[in-house]
Formats: sequence, structure tokens, C-alpha cells
Amino acid sequence: MPDSRFKILTTASTPGPGDAGRTGSWRVERPIIDYNRCIPAKTGKHACHLCWLYCPDSTVSKAIKPEFDLQYCKGCGICAEECPAQAITMVAEENFAGGGDNE
Ligand code: SF4
Ligand code: SF4
Repeated sequence: MPDSRFKILTTASTPGPGDAGRTGSWRVERPIIDYNRCIPAKTGKHACHLCWLYCPDSTVSKAIKPEFDLQYCKGCGICAEECPAQAITMVAEENFAGGGDNE
């Protein structure tokens, strides 16, 4: 039930996973997490999750060990930029077998 103490003054929209469509083969880099640095992974508690919060395509899971859905990740690097623990590295797709298939 809505809290009547607060009025909705504006609209807000949040993306759903894949709202921008599957990435296809054009992504140049993909994010890789170092779980030895990641705060929730290290502590075993739900904390931080800034990668989940900032990802514009909602492709990061809000989990103790966050994971990326590479079918939809666009490789923008925002998650790596916002991670306070420098746990995310953007790695060139050419380093992965199969390259841009995003699986
Ligand atoms: S932003 Fe960094 S430290 Fe925070 S949950 Fe994501 S990977 Fe872990
Ligand atoms: S690189 Fe961009 S699209 Fe991919 S998980 Fe990070 S913030 Fe989301």
C-alpha cells in the first residue's frame, strides 16, 4: 500500500535486463570481477552493489558474488569506473575464445 505521507512528484523509469536488446558481436571490452577485491564477495554480506546500481542495462546481478549477463552487457565500463574497490577490470574481447559471441 502506498505511503500517503509522500507525494509522487515525478516519474522514474528503471531499465530491465535486455531492454536495449542483445549486444551481438560489437562489444569491444567485457567486465571481469576480481572476487578477492569485491566487497560483498569478501565479506559474505550484501553490501556495495554499486555495479548493479549503475549498470545502464541492468546486466549485473545483485548477489554476494555479482555476475554479468554478457548477452546484454554493452561493455560501457561504467561498473568498473564506479567500483570503489577497483574490483572490475575491462578486458578486450579479443582475449576470449569466440570473441564477440557474448556467451
Ligand atoms: S561495485 Fe565493485 S565492490 Fe561493489 S559489488 Fe560491484 S564489484 Fe563488488
Ligand atoms: S560494462 Fe556497462 S553494460 Fe556491462 S555490466 Fe558494466 S555497466 Fe553494465
